[in-house]
Amino acid sequence: MTLTTRPRGTNDIGPGQIELWHKLEEKIRQVTSAYGYQELRTPIFEHTELFQRGIGEATDIVEKEMYTFLDKGKRSLTLRPEGTAPVVRAFVEGKLGAGSLPVKLYYYGPMFRYERPQAGRYRQFTQFGFEVFGSQDPLLDVEAIMLPLELYKSCGLSGFEVQINTIGCPACRPSYRQELVEYFEPQVDKLCASCRDRLHRNPMRLLDCKVESCQEVLSGAPQITRHLCEECSEHFAQVVDYLDALGVDYKLNHRLVRGFDYYTKTVFEVTSSELGAQNAIGAGGRYDGLVEELGGKPTPAVGFAVGVERLLLALQGQDKLKAEAAGPHAYLIHFGGSTKRRAAEVAYFLRSQGLWAELDYLDRSIKAQMKAANRLSSKYAMIFGEEELGRNRVILRNMRDGHEQEMDLQELEQLAKIIGECGQ
Ligand code: AMP
Repeated sequence: MTLTTRPRGTNDIGPGQIELWHKLEEKIRQVTSAYGYQELRTPIFEHTELFQRGIGEATDIVEKEMYTFLDKGKRSLTLRPEGTAPVVRAFVEGKLGAGSLPVKLYYYGPMFRYERPQAGRYRQFTQFGFEVFGSQDPLLDVEAIMLPLELYKSCGLSGFEVQINTIGCPACRPSYRQELVEYFEPQVDKLCASCRDRLHRNPMRLLDCKVESCQEVLSGAPQITRHLCEECSEHFAQVVDYLDALGVDYKLNHRLVRGFDYYTKTVFEVTSSELGAQNAIGAGGRYDGLVEELGGKPTPAVGFAVGVERLLLALQGQDKLKAEAAGPHAYLIHFGGSTKRRAAEVAYFLRSQGLWAELDYLDRSIKAQMKAANRLSSKYAMIFGEEELGRNRVILRNMRDGHEQEMDLQELEQLAKIIGECGQ
């Protein structure tokens, strides 16, 4: 059974779906280039320590969700659960900050988390994400929100909501954490097991607990605002100013915290009304301490990651970003023997010109070959009859209007031109 069943929480993406992926990937390339980002491809696995240090030991991802294994050299490696720590590692290792700043990098590829699979939540999923290094400018926080919005809009998506918050920095967080612990402790009995467990290790994470019975206690939890240091408070005020000036719709959500320890100051999340429980289609934030934490020079940074499967689910829900499978430019119909050889020669020529040429490999009848051409939505059929070939000619049939003409096989370039002009 396991031989023919894919592992839980994984997907096969094949014909009928892959066209949409290609279309979305094209949009990602367009929007990243408009914002001046360059692609960075990092390994699928990294040293486990990178994620333990980068994401934080007391996070769900590191505690419960990583695919960690020892390789044959007894090194502990982990399939990457997210893209930021690897990009930071590559930034430091490759000294990518040595030139002019800011440095803008994007990534696209599979991530792995051992989570409970459900609609929109998988164990292998795809993220498009980007990171910008080397500037504290709050305008970059805002651009990190605008870039994914541009992507969502360019795909035709509507009904999404941006939520933002600030979670302060190592200077202002300790006193907030303490106030949270003091607030929660007397009511610990009303909290779920996971909140009780996190109360002392990571009290801010309680704020985004979704368990119904915790909501009453959570709704009265103190906000970070009065703990923010001057720098964090000023930074957030400027983020909000820029968002307003640039006409970006957003909602302040004081309970928005993220599942990674590296964030400082601004955090944000985009949700889609099209999706159910797993409705986040992207999230990100500023992380001014991570580069240094991972051995680089102190370098402020901000980034965002889009969940590609969820974005596609939301788009499908709204019937957007449709992609039809393209058909061949020409289906070459032959009668076997020398007609097949001649058809093969012409097919190779057409393919060398970048045209999609198909022919029969199953010794089918002419009628069946014509059917196959139709089924594949081929624009033209080329019929290699013996009599025509004797005169070095072939019949070209336009499959849309049924119009037929004889073409000279001496003039293959001309033939390719006609076939190519039909588009796909
Ligand atoms: P995160 O790295 O947790 O901030 O997630 C960023 C985005 O990736 C989320 O907003 C989701 O769209 C997507 N995502 C995270 N985890 C999963 C998962 N297990 N399956 C599918 N998409 C996910």
